[in-house]
This record gives sequence, C-alpha cells and structure tokens, in this order.
Amino acid sequence: MGHALHVSSPQGRFAGGATRVDGRILRDTEAYGKHLFHHYDGDLSVHVHLGLYGKVADGQVPAPEPIGQVRMRLEGGGHWLDLRGPTACEVFDPAQVQQLRDRLGADPLRDDAEPEVAYRKVRGSTKAIFALLLDQTVVAGCGLIYANEVLFRAGLAPTTPGRSISPELWDELWTDLRALMKEGVARGRIDTVHTRHTPEAMRRAPRVDRHGGEVYVYRRPGQACLVCGTEIARGPLAGRNLYWCPTCQP
Ligand SMILES: [Zn+2]
Repeated sequence: MGHALHVSSPQGRFAGGATRVDGRILRDTEAYGKHLFHHYDGDLSVHVHLGLYGKVADGQVPAPEPIGQVRMRLEGGGHWLDLRGPTACEVFDPAQVQQLRDRLGADPLRDDAEPEVAYRKVRGSTKAIFALLLDQTVVAGCGLIYANEVLFRAGLAPTTPGRSISPELWDELWTDLRALMKEGVARGRIDTVHTRHTPEAMRRAPRVDRHGGEVYVYRRPGQACLVCGTEIARGPLAGRNLYWCPTCQP
C-alpha cells in the first residue's frame, strides 16, 4: 500500500484492465465478503470476486515465473501477489464501486456493517432464513457452515420465513454470526460449539473432517446431535446443503 505497483496479467485475460492501473499508487484495499477492492490513484479501482475457485498467493521479490493461469500479478514495495481463478477481476470507476457496495449485503466482519439494513431485507422476505443468510445481497460472506451452525445455535428452524424473524432474534443471529466469523478468522479454522460441547468436555473423539473444526450440524447427517442425541438431518434448501437437528430446531 502506498507504492506504485506494476500490474500485469500473465494469463492475458485481464491485460486491458492491467494496463489502465499499471504504475499507479495503491491507496487502499477493502473487503466485503468475497469481494475485494484495490483503490488506485486517479479514481480507478480493481474489483475482484474470488468466487469458489479464486486463490491469492504472495511473497517477497523476486517473483517466481508465473505458474498456471495468473489473471493478475501485482509487484511493488518488495512484494508480489498473484491472483488465480477469480470470478471477477475488473477495473471500476467510483460510480461502479458505489453501485456494487449498494448491492452487497452487510459483512459481519466489517465494523461499519449495518445489520439493520440487512434486517429490513430479511423482514421483507418470505424466503427461508437459511436462504437469506446465504444471499450475498443480504449478508456478505456468511458461507454454508456458518449459516447452518448459527441457526442451530439459535434453536431456529432453517425454513422459518424472514418476515417472522423478530428484531431481537435478528440481533441475536447477527451478534452470534459476527462473533463466530471473527473467531474463525483469528483461529484459522471454524469451531462453532460451546465450551460444554467440545470433545474434552464431552469426553468424545474429535470430529474427523477435511474442513476441521468442531460443529453441531454441518456435514454431520445421521450422527447424534451433541445436545439431544437426535440424528442430524440433511436436505436441499435454496440449492444448498442444509443440516439441522429436528428436535433442537423444531
Ligand atoms: Zn438436538
């Protein structure tokens, strides 16, 4: 940040955009869920959406030969950064940045997030709260694990329509989601169980899953609920995998 960057597109797909910002000073970066902005001198911003496959690698100079499909490479201030496989990588003017910000939902990881704006969307919808949590125009960056887990922790049926969520309940969901997501970033893994339900507290074997972390329902179909022993259920909702305890989330 604060350096003039050499911006290029070794793969070529971002060549035109790279030329527009190459040599400019990077003033600021911002994240909204999986959307990233790099703000450059001259009122130009690069918008990146990582999507499911986007990956970032970085290191100290000298930068290695570009391997694979490097959409965008940044070099400057002794560092390099490679972006591969994003859903979007494009140059925006300030109006386009604002347009996208307005469309994005509240990001629980941002201190300036506005949960009341998200709540207005929830309250005005007949869709299931599970689907609304995963809707990026309502909540940015929630993700499947947190959407499933936060509803279990609230004892809430995932099919509850948004319009029947009270302000108090939304406040509880938002506060819990924010705490869990912040902890996930700090620890580098996602744990959503209360202290009394850890493997140590329950004298049970730790969960074995490539995602790691101790959870209540996510990817535990057919296993016993850690709270009541009922088998965790699984079903599709809004095109995503929903997991829930039929007893704890009536
Ligand atoms: Zn249960």
